[in-house]
Amino acid sequence: VRVWIFLAVLALAAAPVSAGESNRYDKFRNETYSNDGLMSERDEIRLGAEVHRQVLQKYRLVTDPAITAPVQELGQRLARTSGRPNLAYTFYVIDDSSVNAFSLPGGFIYMNTGLLALAQAEDELASALAHEIAHVVARHGLRNYKKAQRTALLFGILGAGAEVATRGSLGGRAIGAASQLLAAGIITRFGRDFEREADYLGLHNIVHAGYEAEGMVRMFGRLAQAHNGKKTPGGGIFASHPDAKERIHNTQVEIAQHLNGTVAGVSGRPRRVGGTPGNSGGFDRMKAGVSTHRSSTATNPGTNQPERPVLRRRP
Ligand SMILES: [Zn+2]
Repeated sequence: VRVWIFLAVLALAAAPVSAGESNRYDKFRNETYSNDGLMSERDEIRLGAEVHRQVLQKYRLVTDPAITAPVQELGQRLARTSGRPNLAYTFYVIDDSSVNAFSLPGGFIYMNTGLLALAQAEDELASALAHEIAHVVARHGLRNYKKAQRTALLFGILGAGAEVATRGSLGGRAIGAASQLLAAGIITRFGRDFEREADYLGLHNIVHAGYEAEGMVRMFGRLAQAHNGKKTPGGGIFASHPDAKERIHNTQVEIAQHLNGTVAGVSGRPRRVGGTPGNSGGFDRMKAGVSTHRSSTATNPGTNQPERPVLRRRP
């Protein structure tokens, strides 16, 4: 079944885009982004750092520099050409063979080893990284946070979380709230329009960084294959995202209408959109590292818990 789904996605990827096609990204085209009306950047970073501590409690990070350094390097390159180049970003690899990625306000970006294993070219990995960077650029986590604050009386989740942002309190209540923020997916799970906006911003980001726009189309094809109906309730690269068919179509319309088949590379020379992208040595080393990395979750995918004895009935 998986093979047929993948072939169907590939067939879709080859479908031509007509010139007058409506473009779902048009509504984002003239957006500008800032912290105005949300919280200061300093408080945003503090909020992200607080939730990051919860990420460290919940997930195991990969420390092998053969894997982490190329991801950091690629991430920093994309961050510099993003719509928010002056924020200090940090890129982490989570030891989890399920295919996922997510980000936190303040520039904390996470990629599962499962996603690194899935990407077959540097521009594909760049697409996933740029999508997560875009959530930070567009302050999607912060906007969800503010919305949740407004309804906190209704749901009673965020009483202490508000203090993290407004007073920098790192007391027990705030830590509890940060944990709830993560568990409830409040700042990591987004609606479809935020996801479309992140796809739009991410596509332009990879092109500005000198990558092939088509890399994003290929990445969506691979995600569709890996996704195969699974849900990620905590948020991440699949949760509430438009389906792969739509994401591929949106990307192709944008390439046809606004990237015009050619893009300026980092050198300023026009480059063909498409063709075979070159991988840097770092990407190839990262792939080799991931393929030999013994994931703690290989026998228990998606849970990020160490393997536990399981009581089995005799047949
Ligand atoms: Zn997303």
